Amino acid sequence: MALTFPIYLDYHATTPVDPRALEAMLPYFTTQFGNAASRSHAFGWDAEKAVDRARRQLAALIGASAGEIVFTSGATESNNVALKGLAAASRGRGDHLVTSVIEHKSVLDVCRQLQKDGWQVTYLPVNAEGRVDPDDVRGAITDRTVAVSIMAANNETGAIQPLAEIGAVTRERGVLLHSDASQAAGKIPLDVRTLGVDLLSFTGHKMYAPKGVGALCVRRRSPRIELAPLFHGGGHERGIRSGTLNVPGIVGFGRAAEVNAAELPGEAVRLAALRDRLFEGLSSRLSGVGLNGPREGRLPHNLNVHFTGVEGESILMAIDDIALSSGSACSSGSVEPSYVLKAIGLSDALALASVRFGLGRFTTEEEVEYAVEKVARVITQLRGRRSAARGPRHLSTSST
Ligand SMILES: *Cc1c(COP(=O)(O)O)cnc(C)c1O
Repeated sequence: MALTFPIYLDYHATTPVDPRALEAMLPYFTTQFGNAASRSHAFGWDAEKAVDRARRQLAALIGASAGEIVFTSGATESNNVALKGLAAASRGRGDHLVTSVIEHKSVLDVCRQLQKDGWQVTYLPVNAEGRVDPDDVRGAITDRTVAVSIMAANNETGAIQPLAEIGAVTRERGVLLHSDASQAAGKIPLDVRTLGVDLLSFTGHKMYAPKGVGALCVRRRSPRIELAPLFHGGGHERGIRSGTLNVPGIVGFGRAAEVNAAELPGEAVRLAALRDRLFEGLSSRLSGVGLNGPREGRLPHNLNVHFTGVEGESILMAIDDIALSSGSACSSGSVEPSYVLKAIGLSDALALASVRFGLGRFTTEEEVEYAVEKVARVITQLRGRRSAARGPRHLSTSST
Protein backbone atom coordinates (compact mmCIF):
# COMPACT_ATOMS: atom_id res chain seq x y z
CA MET A 1 0.00 0.00 0.00
CA ALA A 2 1.34 3.43 -0.90
CA LEU A 3 2.21 5.67 2.01
CA THR A 4 0.28 8.87 2.49
CA PHE A 5 1.81 11.74 4.40
CA PRO A 6 1.99 12.99 7.05
CA ILE A 7 2.05 9.73 9.00
CA TYR A 8 0.17 9.88 12.28
CA LEU A 9 1.98 8.28 15.24
CA ASP A 10 0.41 10.31 18.04
CA TYR A 11 -2.63 8.17 18.92
CA HIS A 12 -2.25 8.99 22.62
CA ALA A 13 -3.08 12.61 21.89
CA THR A 14 -6.22 11.85 19.93
CA THR A 15 -7.59 9.40 17.37
CA PRO A 16 -9.60 9.83 14.20
CA VAL A 17 -13.28 8.90 14.30
CA ASP A 18 -13.80 5.36 13.04
CA PRO A 19 -15.90 5.39 9.85
CA ARG A 20 -18.36 2.98 11.51
CA ALA A 21 -18.82 5.36 14.44
CA LEU A 22 -19.27 8.28 12.06
CA GLU A 23 -21.85 6.44 10.03
CA ALA A 24 -23.82 5.61 13.17
CA MET A 25 -23.76 9.28 14.21
CA LEU A 26 -24.88 10.94 10.99
CA PRO A 27 -28.69 10.52 11.26
CA TYR A 28 -28.60 12.04 14.74
CA PHE A 29 -27.42 15.36 13.32
CA THR A 30 -30.24 15.62 10.81
CA THR A 31 -33.38 13.50 10.64
CA GLN A 32 -33.11 12.07 14.17
CA PHE A 33 -32.15 15.28 15.92
CA GLY A 34 -34.41 14.91 18.94
CA ASN A 35 -33.56 15.87 22.50
CA ALA A 36 -33.18 12.70 24.55
CA ALA A 37 -35.02 14.44 27.39
CA SER A 38 -38.13 15.16 25.30
CA ARG A 39 -40.70 12.76 26.69
CA SER A 40 -43.72 13.77 24.65
CA HIS A 41 -42.89 12.75 21.07
CA ALA A 42 -41.09 10.28 18.84
CA PHE A 43 -38.11 12.59 18.18
CA GLY A 44 -37.26 12.46 21.88
CA TRP A 45 -37.99 8.75 22.21
CA ASP A 46 -35.71 7.92 19.27
CA ALA A 47 -32.90 9.96 20.74
CA GLU A 48 -33.37 8.37 24.14
CA LYS A 49 -33.34 4.91 22.59
CA ALA A 50 -30.08 5.71 20.79
CA VAL A 51 -28.51 7.03 24.00
CA ASP A 52 -29.60 3.92 25.89
CA ARG A 53 -28.04 1.70 23.25
CA ALA A 54 -24.78 3.65 23.61
CA ARG A 55 -24.96 3.24 27.39
CA ARG A 56 -25.16 -0.53 26.94
CA GLN A 57 -22.32 -0.57 24.40
CA LEU A 58 -20.07 1.47 26.70
CA ALA A 59 -21.00 -0.50 29.79
CA ALA A 60 -20.17 -3.74 27.99
CA LEU A 61 -16.67 -2.47 27.21
CA ILE A 62 -15.82 -1.98 30.90
CA GLY A 63 -17.90 -4.63 32.65
CA ALA A 64 -20.42 -2.13 34.02
CA SER A 65 -24.18 -1.98 33.68
CA ALA A 66 -25.88 0.60 31.45
CA GLY A 67 -27.33 2.49 34.42
CA GLU A 68 -23.83 3.15 35.72
CA ILE A 69 -22.74 5.28 32.75
CA VAL A 70 -22.89 9.08 33.12
CA PHE A 71 -22.18 11.02 29.93
CA THR A 72 -19.84 14.02 30.07
CA SER A 73 -17.87 16.13 27.62
CA GLY A 74 -14.66 14.11 28.04
CA ALA A 75 -12.22 12.73 30.56
CA THR A 76 -11.23 16.13 31.93
CA GLU A 77 -14.83 16.68 32.93
CA SER A 78 -15.24 13.10 34.19
CA ASN A 79 -12.18 13.48 36.43
CA ASN A 80 -13.48 16.82 37.75
CA VAL A 81 -16.97 15.45 38.35
CA ALA A 82 -15.57 12.41 40.15
CA LEU A 83 -13.02 14.07 42.41
CA LYS A 84 -14.69 17.40 43.14
CA GLY A 85 -18.04 15.63 43.35
CA LEU A 86 -16.74 13.15 45.92
CA ALA A 87 -14.95 15.85 47.86
CA ALA A 88 -18.01 18.09 48.08
CA ALA A 89 -20.31 15.21 48.99
CA SER A 90 -18.11 13.76 51.71
CA ARG A 91 -17.10 16.90 53.57
CA GLY A 92 -17.07 16.19 57.26
CA ARG A 93 -16.53 12.47 56.77
CA GLY A 94 -12.97 12.90 55.55
CA ASP A 95 -10.47 15.30 54.07
CA HIS A 96 -7.82 13.15 52.42
CA LEU A 97 -7.21 11.85 48.90
CA VAL A 98 -4.52 9.55 47.56
CA THR A 99 -3.25 9.79 43.99
CA SER A 100 0.03 9.42 42.09
CA VAL A 101 2.60 11.82 40.68
CA ILE A 102 2.07 10.49 37.12
CA GLU A 103 -1.62 11.31 36.79
CA HIS A 104 -2.93 13.46 33.95
CA LYS A 105 -3.19 17.19 34.71
CA SER A 106 -6.97 16.85 34.88
CA VAL A 107 -6.48 14.82 38.06
CA LEU A 108 -3.40 16.58 39.44
CA ASP A 109 -4.76 20.09 38.99
CA VAL A 110 -8.08 19.12 40.56
CA CYS A 111 -6.13 17.79 43.54
CA ARG A 112 -4.13 21.03 43.78
CA GLN A 113 -7.39 22.97 43.73
CA LEU A 114 -8.85 20.75 46.45
CA GLN A 115 -5.73 21.34 48.56
CA LYS A 116 -6.48 25.08 48.40
CA ASP A 117 -9.91 24.20 49.78
CA GLY A 118 -8.35 22.41 52.75
CA TRP A 119 -8.00 18.87 51.45
CA GLN A 120 -4.91 16.77 52.15
CA VAL A 121 -3.54 14.94 49.14
CA THR A 122 -0.89 12.22 49.10
CA TYR A 123 0.94 11.96 45.76
CA LEU A 124 2.42 8.48 45.53
CA PRO A 125 5.69 7.94 43.63
CA VAL A 126 6.17 5.28 40.94
CA ASN A 127 9.01 2.81 40.43
CA ALA A 128 11.45 2.89 37.50
CA GLU A 129 8.88 1.11 35.33
CA GLY A 130 6.33 3.80 36.07
CA ARG A 131 4.09 1.76 38.33
CA VAL A 132 2.44 2.61 41.62
CA ASP A 133 3.07 0.09 44.43
CA PRO A 134 -0.23 -1.15 45.93
CA ASP A 135 1.55 -1.35 49.30
CA ASP A 136 2.19 2.38 49.07
CA VAL A 137 -1.54 2.86 48.52
CA ARG A 138 -2.22 0.77 51.62
CA GLY A 139 0.30 2.78 53.63
CA ALA A 140 -1.16 6.11 52.54
CA ILE A 141 -4.78 5.41 53.49
CA THR A 142 -5.84 6.91 56.82
CA ASP A 143 -9.21 7.01 58.53
CA ARG A 144 -9.67 10.46 56.90
CA THR A 145 -9.20 9.12 53.35
CA VAL A 146 -12.23 9.44 51.09
CA ALA A 147 -10.86 8.15 47.80
CA VAL A 148 -7.86 6.90 45.87
CA SER A 149 -7.39 8.00 42.25
CA ILE A 150 -4.93 6.00 40.15
CA MET A 151 -4.99 5.95 36.36
CA ALA A 152 -5.44 2.64 34.52
CA ALA A 153 -2.51 3.26 32.17
CA ASN A 154 -0.19 6.20 31.68
CA ASN A 155 -0.42 8.38 28.59
CA GLU A 156 3.35 8.82 28.25
CA THR A 157 5.04 5.59 29.35
CA GLY A 158 2.09 3.31 28.62
CA ALA A 159 2.62 1.69 32.04
CA ILE A 160 -0.44 -0.29 33.05
CA GLN A 161 -1.14 0.20 36.74
CA PRO A 162 -1.88 -2.69 39.14
CA LEU A 163 -5.51 -1.64 39.51
CA ALA A 164 -6.82 -5.02 40.67
CA GLU A 165 -4.33 -5.05 43.56
CA ILE A 166 -5.09 -1.42 44.37
CA GLY A 167 -8.82 -2.21 44.19
CA ALA A 168 -8.33 -5.01 46.70
CA VAL A 169 -6.66 -2.54 49.07
CA THR A 170 -9.34 0.14 48.71
CA ARG A 171 -12.14 -2.39 49.16
CA GLU A 172 -10.50 -3.80 52.27
CA ARG A 173 -10.12 -0.29 53.70
CA GLY A 174 -13.57 0.88 52.69
CA VAL A 175 -12.24 3.70 50.51
CA LEU A 176 -13.50 4.59 47.03
CA LEU A 177 -11.30 3.95 43.98
CA HIS A 178 -11.44 6.27 40.98
CA SER A 179 -9.46 5.54 37.84
CA ASP A 180 -8.73 7.63 34.77
CA ALA A 181 -8.89 5.01 32.02
CA SER A 182 -8.64 7.43 29.09
CA GLN A 183 -5.69 5.59 27.55
CA ALA A 184 -6.71 2.09 28.57
CA ALA A 185 -10.37 1.89 27.59
CA GLY A 186 -10.78 -0.05 24.38
CA LYS A 187 -7.05 -0.86 24.27
CA ILE A 188 -6.71 -3.42 27.05
CA PRO A 189 -9.42 -5.48 28.77
CA LEU A 190 -11.03 -3.56 31.64
CA ASP A 191 -13.67 -4.83 34.03
CA VAL A 192 -14.70 -2.46 36.78
CA ARG A 193 -16.20 -5.33 38.78
CA THR A 194 -13.12 -7.53 38.93
CA LEU A 195 -10.83 -4.50 39.29
CA GLY A 196 -12.83 -3.14 42.20
CA VAL A 197 -13.05 0.30 40.61
CA ASP A 198 -15.91 2.49 41.85
CA LEU A 199 -15.57 5.38 39.40
CA LEU A 200 -13.97 5.19 35.95
CA SER A 201 -13.32 8.08 33.57
CA PHE A 202 -12.88 7.65 29.84
CA THR A 203 -13.22 9.69 26.69
CA GLY A 204 -14.39 9.31 23.11
CA HIS A 205 -11.55 10.89 21.21
CA LYS A 206 -8.90 8.50 22.55
CA MET A 207 -10.86 5.51 21.23
CA TYR A 208 -12.00 6.44 17.71
CA ALA A 209 -15.07 8.44 18.70
CA PRO A 210 -15.42 12.21 18.41
CA LYS A 211 -13.95 14.86 20.66
CA GLY A 212 -16.22 16.42 23.25
CA VAL A 213 -17.91 13.28 24.53
CA GLY A 214 -16.82 11.19 27.49
CA ALA A 215 -18.19 9.15 30.34
CA LEU A 216 -17.88 8.57 34.02
CA CYS A 217 -18.87 5.15 35.24
CA VAL A 218 -20.37 5.52 38.70
CA ARG A 219 -20.85 2.09 40.19
CA ARG A 220 -24.17 1.25 41.83
CA ARG A 221 -23.07 -0.15 45.15
CA SER A 222 -23.87 0.07 48.77
CA PRO A 223 -23.21 2.29 50.48
CA ARG A 224 -24.23 4.51 47.58
CA ILE A 225 -21.54 6.67 45.97
CA GLU A 226 -22.43 10.27 46.79
CA LEU A 227 -21.39 12.79 44.16
CA ALA A 228 -22.19 16.48 44.40
CA PRO A 229 -22.86 17.78 40.86
CA LEU A 230 -20.70 20.51 39.33
CA PHE A 231 -23.55 21.68 37.07
CA HIS A 232 -27.05 22.30 38.26
CA GLY A 233 -29.91 22.26 35.83
CA GLY A 234 -32.28 19.80 34.29
CA GLY A 235 -31.16 16.89 36.43
CA HIS A 236 -29.94 14.78 33.50
CA GLU A 237 -27.72 11.77 34.10
CA ARG A 238 -29.06 10.91 37.58
CA GLY A 239 -28.57 14.54 38.58
CA ILE A 240 -24.80 14.09 38.36
CA ARG A 241 -24.41 15.99 35.10
CA SER A 242 -27.16 18.33 34.00
CA GLY A 243 -27.23 19.49 30.41
CA THR A 244 -28.80 18.32 27.14
CA LEU A 245 -27.05 15.18 25.97
CA ASN A 246 -24.75 15.29 22.93
CA VAL A 247 -26.77 12.59 21.18
CA PRO A 248 -24.69 12.24 17.96
CA GLY A 249 -21.45 12.20 19.96
CA ILE A 250 -22.85 9.65 22.39
CA VAL A 251 -24.06 7.42 19.53
CA GLY A 252 -20.58 7.55 17.97
CA PHE A 253 -18.95 6.86 21.33
CA GLY A 254 -21.17 3.82 21.85
CA ARG A 255 -20.53 2.42 18.40
CA ALA A 256 -16.78 3.03 18.79
CA ALA A 257 -16.86 1.12 22.07
CA GLU A 258 -18.58 -1.79 20.37
CA VAL A 259 -15.97 -1.85 17.60
CA ASN A 260 -13.15 -1.60 20.16
CA ALA A 261 -14.53 -4.48 22.19
CA ALA A 262 -14.78 -6.68 19.09
CA GLU A 263 -11.35 -5.81 17.72
CA LEU A 264 -9.38 -5.44 20.93
CA PRO A 265 -7.87 -8.94 21.12
CA GLY A 266 -6.54 -8.89 17.56
CA GLU A 267 -5.55 -5.23 17.61
CA ALA A 268 -3.59 -5.56 20.84
CA VAL A 269 -1.48 -8.34 19.30
CA ARG A 270 -1.05 -6.55 15.95
CA LEU A 271 -0.07 -3.23 17.53
CA ALA A 272 2.30 -4.77 20.09
CA ALA A 273 4.10 -6.54 17.21
CA LEU A 274 4.37 -3.29 15.23
CA ARG A 275 5.52 -1.45 18.33
CA ASP A 276 8.22 -4.06 19.04
CA ARG A 277 9.34 -3.84 15.45
CA LEU A 278 9.64 -0.07 15.76
CA PHE A 279 11.78 -0.40 18.88
CA GLU A 280 13.97 -3.16 17.43
CA GLY A 281 14.39 -1.23 14.19
CA LEU A 282 15.52 1.90 16.02
CA SER A 283 17.76 -0.05 18.42
CA SER A 284 19.49 -1.93 15.61
CA ARG A 285 20.19 1.23 13.60
CA LEU A 286 21.21 3.54 16.43
CA SER A 287 23.27 3.43 19.60
CA GLY A 288 22.03 5.11 22.77
CA VAL A 289 18.39 4.10 22.44
CA GLY A 290 16.69 3.50 25.79
CA LEU A 291 13.18 2.33 26.55
CA ASN A 292 11.21 4.57 28.91
CA GLY A 293 8.68 2.63 30.95
CA PRO A 294 8.13 -1.09 31.33
CA ARG A 295 8.96 -3.88 28.92
CA GLU A 296 5.95 -5.90 30.07
CA GLY A 297 2.60 -4.58 31.21
CA ARG A 298 2.46 -1.60 28.91
CA LEU A 299 -0.18 -0.44 26.48
CA PRO A 300 0.27 -2.43 23.27
CA HIS A 301 0.34 0.68 21.10
CA ASN A 302 2.78 2.72 23.17
CA LEU A 303 6.51 3.20 22.71
CA ASN A 304 8.47 5.84 24.58
CA VAL A 305 12.23 6.02 24.03
CA HIS A 306 15.14 8.33 24.69
CA PHE A 307 17.94 8.90 22.21
CA THR A 308 21.02 10.00 24.15
CA GLY A 309 22.64 13.22 23.03
CA VAL A 310 19.73 14.63 21.01
CA GLU A 311 16.75 16.67 22.06
CA GLY A 312 13.32 15.23 21.37
CA GLU A 313 12.20 18.69 20.28
CA SER A 314 15.00 18.84 17.67
CA ILE A 315 13.97 15.42 16.37
CA LEU A 316 10.37 16.54 16.04
CA MET A 317 11.43 19.74 14.30
CA ALA A 318 13.60 17.84 11.83
CA ILE A 319 10.74 15.46 10.96
CA ASP A 320 7.92 17.15 9.10
CA ASP A 321 6.16 14.09 7.73
CA ILE A 322 5.49 12.08 10.90
CA ALA A 323 3.31 13.30 13.77
CA LEU A 324 5.06 12.46 17.05
CA SER A 325 5.24 13.77 20.58
CA SER A 326 8.31 14.52 22.69
CA GLY A 327 9.12 14.00 26.37
CA SER A 328 8.57 17.61 27.14
CA ALA A 329 5.77 20.02 27.67
CA CYS A 330 5.77 23.61 26.52
CA SER A 331 4.75 25.69 29.45
CA SER A 332 4.83 29.46 29.05
CA GLY A 333 7.21 29.30 26.13
CA SER A 334 9.96 27.27 27.79
CA VAL A 335 10.55 23.57 27.23
CA GLU A 336 10.17 21.58 30.43
CA PRO A 337 11.03 17.91 30.83
CA SER A 338 7.99 15.69 31.31
CA TYR A 339 7.05 15.19 34.98
CA VAL A 340 6.09 11.60 34.20
CA LEU A 341 9.51 10.75 32.75
CA LYS A 342 11.22 12.49 35.68
CA ALA A 343 9.05 10.44 38.06
CA ILE A 344 10.44 7.18 36.62
CA GLY A 345 13.93 8.46 37.38
CA LEU A 346 15.05 10.00 34.10
CA SER A 347 17.40 12.99 34.25
CA ASP A 348 16.20 16.25 32.70
CA ALA A 349 18.51 15.56 29.76
CA LEU A 350 17.14 12.06 29.09
CA ALA A 351 13.54 13.20 29.54
CA LEU A 352 14.17 15.95 27.00
CA ALA A 353 15.81 13.38 24.69
CA SER A 354 12.60 11.32 24.62
CA VAL A 355 10.04 10.70 21.92
CA ARG A 356 6.63 9.09 22.30
CA PHE A 357 5.28 6.93 19.50
CA GLY A 358 1.58 6.20 19.64
CA LEU A 359 0.34 3.56 17.21
CA GLY A 360 -3.26 2.91 16.36
CA ARG A 361 -5.97 1.35 14.28
CA PHE A 362 -4.82 2.83 11.00
CA THR A 363 -1.08 2.32 11.51
CA THR A 364 0.45 0.04 8.90
CA GLU A 365 3.63 -1.99 8.72
CA GLU A 366 4.87 0.29 5.92
CA GLU A 367 4.39 3.35 8.12
CA VAL A 368 6.38 1.77 10.92
CA GLU A 369 9.19 0.83 8.48
CA TYR A 370 9.24 4.38 7.16
CA ALA A 371 9.32 5.81 10.69
CA VAL A 372 12.27 3.60 11.65
CA GLU A 373 14.32 4.74 8.64
CA LYS A 374 13.38 8.39 8.96
CA VAL A 375 13.92 8.71 12.71
CA ALA A 376 17.22 6.80 12.52
CA ARG A 377 18.45 9.03 9.69
CA VAL A 378 17.45 12.25 11.46
CA ILE A 379 19.08 11.23 14.73
CA THR A 380 22.28 10.20 12.97
CA GLN A 381 22.36 13.62 11.28
CA LEU A 382 21.63 15.50 14.51
CA ARG A 383 24.33 13.58 16.35
CA GLY A 384 26.77 14.18 13.49
CA ARG A 385 26.05 17.89 13.60
CA ARG A 386 26.62 17.92 17.35
CA SER A 387 29.98 16.19 17.15
CA ALA A 388 30.99 18.36 14.20
CA ALA A 389 30.18 21.42 16.30
CA ARG A 390 32.19 19.96 19.16
CA GLY A 391 35.06 18.79 16.98
CA PRO A 392 36.95 22.01 16.29
CA ARG A 393 36.68 23.06 19.92
CA HIS A 394 38.28 19.81 20.99
CA LEU A 395 41.07 20.41 18.50
CA SER A 396 41.69 23.95 19.64
CA THR A 397 41.73 22.99 23.32
CA SER A 398 44.11 20.13 22.67
CA SER A 399 46.40 22.34 20.58
CA THR A 400 46.84 24.97 23.26
C1 LIG B 1 -6.57 12.69 27.02
C2 LIG B 1 -6.54 12.36 28.47
C3 LIG B 1 -7.38 13.03 29.37
C4 LIG B 1 -8.28 14.18 28.95
O1 LIG B 1 -9.33 13.76 28.18
P1 LIG B 1 -10.25 14.84 27.40
O2 LIG B 1 -11.38 14.03 26.91
O3 LIG B 1 -9.37 15.37 26.33
O4 LIG B 1 -10.64 15.86 28.39
C5 LIG B 1 -7.35 12.65 30.69
N1 LIG B 1 -6.53 11.68 31.11
C6 LIG B 1 -5.71 11.02 30.29
C7 LIG B 1 -4.84 9.94 30.82
C8 LIG B 1 -5.69 11.34 28.94
O5 LIG B 1 -4.85 10.69 28.13
